[in-house]
Amino acid sequence: MELLKGKTAMVTGGTRGIGFAVVKLYLNNGASVALCGSRQETVDKALDKLKAENPDYKVIGLCPDLQNPEEVAKAIEVTKETFGALDIMVNNAGISARDKIYDYKSEDFAKIMALNVNAVFNCAQAAAKVMKEQGGGVILNTSSMVSIYGQPSGVGYPTSKFAVNGLTKSLARELGKDNIRVNAVAPGVTRTDMVAALPDELLKPLIATIPLGRVGEPEDVANAFLFLASDMASYVTGEILSVDGAAMT
Ligand code: NAD
Repeated sequence: MELLKGKTAMVTGGTRGIGFAVVKLYLNNGASVALCGSRQETVDKALDKLKAENPDYKVIGLCPDLQNPEEVAKAIEVTKETFGALDIMVNNAGISARDKIYDYKSEDFAKIMALNVNAVFNCAQAAAKVMKEQGGGVILNTSSMVSIYGQPSGVGYPTSKFAVNGLTKSLARELGKDNIRVNAVAPGVTRTDMVAALPDELLKPLIATIPLGRVGEPEDVANAFLFLASDMASYVTGEILSVDGAAMT
């Protein structure tokens, strides 16, 4: 069954990891997708990979600076011109750092907030304007399990994800009357580049605390994004859906 037949989605951070899995699952469910990344080179590589799998995929690649509202609006405009609408906005691009508070640089904190929070605001605002005109839509944000428990180092990252939850719940309440649903997915430890960068001595004890006994795969997380984007979630809004194997770290 194609759960997103005839829908158009934009996915930020779509070149790899969780975002790439979301792009692929959406395409396989009948959606047209604008895949966004931070560099043309990685966007092209992701497009090549998709086209090699299925040359009929309806997908374009874009490289807007998500911290620039004009560039975000332009990317949405291009998506609308190409596919006719914007039904689903997935705000997934994110970065993290694990510095201890004593060494944490103020500019690094600001950098994390700029992409993980301000850019989500920019994209959600621009998407909501278009969706309101269209009569509705879905905005999805990538949060994290650290938005529930915090994290013992790298305070900027969990702080940014707590903000993503606040933004999600508040926008759900503000935009419900415009038929726009807003939800977030909160992944646990997921096998992507972000996790591959973790040293074994950090990863192993982490896995030992996960009741399902493994890290999540990007596809585990993408399935939640599919559900929330689809009409199966037609009465779900303001939800932070954990996909973390019941981890509590
Ligand atoms: P990843 O590092 O594999 O991919 C990150 C994506 O973000 C890439 O597509 C990259 O192009 C994009 N990106 C990075 N900097 C950017 C910038 N300045 N402008 C635009 N795009 C930029 O990461 P991932 O693990 O797939 O993470 C995706 C999301 O999932 C992030 O929001 C992350 O916080 C969240 N998350 C990941 C995990 C995990 O364990 N991997 C757990 C919880 C939450």
